[in-house]
Amino acid sequence: MATKMDERLEFVYQEILKRNPGEAEFHQAVREVLESIGPVLTKYPEFRERKIIQRICEPERQIIFRVPWLDDRGEVQINRGFRVQFNSALGPYKGGLRFHPSVYLGIVKFLGFEQIFKNALTGLPIGGGKGGSDFDPKGKSDNEVMRFCQSFMTELWRYIGEYTDVPAGDIGVGGREIGYMFGQFKRLTSKYEAGVLTGKGLDWGGSLVRTEATGYGATFFVAEMLKARSDSFGGKTCTVSGSGNVAIYTVEKIHQLGGKVVACSDSDGVIHDDKGIDLELLKQLKERERRRISDYVGYRKHATYVAGGNIWAVPCQVAMPSATQNEINGKDAATLVKNGCIAVGEGANMPTTPEGIKVFLDAGIAYGPGKAANAGGVATSALEMQQNATRDSWTFEFTEQKLASIMRTIHQNCWETAEEFGSKGNYVVGANAAGFIKVAKAMVAHGLI
Ligand code: GLU
Repeated sequence: MATKMDERLEFVYQEILKRNPGEAEFHQAVREVLESIGPVLTKYPEFRERKIIQRICEPERQIIFRVPWLDDRGEVQINRGFRVQFNSALGPYKGGLRFHPSVYLGIVKFLGFEQIFKNALTGLPIGGGKGGSDFDPKGKSDNEVMRFCQSFMTELWRYIGEYTDVPAGDIGVGGREIGYMFGQFKRLTSKYEAGVLTGKGLDWGGSLVRTEATGYGATFFVAEMLKARSDSFGGKTCTVSGSGNVAIYTVEKIHQLGGKVVACSDSDGVIHDDKGIDLELLKQLKERERRRISDYVGYRKHATYVAGGNIWAVPCQVAMPSATQNEINGKDAATLVKNGCIAVGEGANMPTTPEGIKVFLDAGIAYGPGKAANAGGVATSALEMQQNATRDSWTFEFTEQKLASIMRTIHQNCWETAEEFGSKGNYVVGANAAGFIKVAKAMVAHGLI
């Protein structure tokens, strides 16, 4: 990282470690922010006096609940549900729900913490929150997913609302799950409160471009980073990890901008297609048929599949990690740089370990951290809320233009803030400092709450 943590912040960090034992991902996310904001506290001593850091690292509210449901054999299953309402200085809590067996409080808190600053960077009126469950949707029938979502919402509904907390999707939660949860919320409240969830279906309150937004936005962000270096996607070889919603629409936008994606992955393995990933086939397998990526090579004979392979070993000029946290370690980062990678844009949340980030920053490549690069998803959720509030619906072109302009502004803001605090070209410092300052100023204005 660019700066070592200053001594007083190190003390604050040690207190946070003690207060939140065993939450490694949360510690990692906090550390990264604290390492960036030393110079900010020199400029704004009131943030230190009002203990903004200690307050920002403590969620406003955390809800943990039992989610019982019946599987198709009639057997009782129990999962754990979470919603961490982290910070409401800028607006109602906003952030996705993740359904994945790895989910525990430390994951939800890291995601909720990052969400505060990401949402601030969008410039839209949304606070930060996150939730989810250790439910594993893999291999579950549609009916099982529905029963789980209904049970999850039967507890969550009393804590959310268009002016309080607005969940959306994340890993394991897409349009289908949002539909089942919205249906149950409507039934429990007898209200058609469209703005309570985002990522809704297009026929019932959803926004055009929301599905594409995270991937498109991340690609726009990388295009801006390349532009700042008088470069572009044209003719670039790219790799995109993952094959979910973020990855698919990252591939789509890279292809539209003239780049070629040659590899993507899932948790079982990697496909390599040097003619360029066949996007329609990918969509068919993953979106419509919910299959594994290994099936891709059955349709594209020249492509290869490596079970357990490492996508970062595939040479590329632009890498877009779009799967999950800590998927690029120091060694992977070194391999990428050695193979000629000049830009990394994070579609996933915290996909690069601190060691990996250091490698990218030391090499001087364009590195766009998730907080900034993947903010297009939640930004478009805020645009969905705007349309719901005015009972309006915008065209695809209009909404995409808004997304592109938001991503340009985020890039500019990160660039200028990094420069202001003496770390020119370092988007980590830029994103953390810019996001933090915005939230901190609002917290100061609201008094000690
Ligand atoms: N889960 C997404 C994220 O990490 C989107 C959240 C939302 O749309 O509220 O930002």
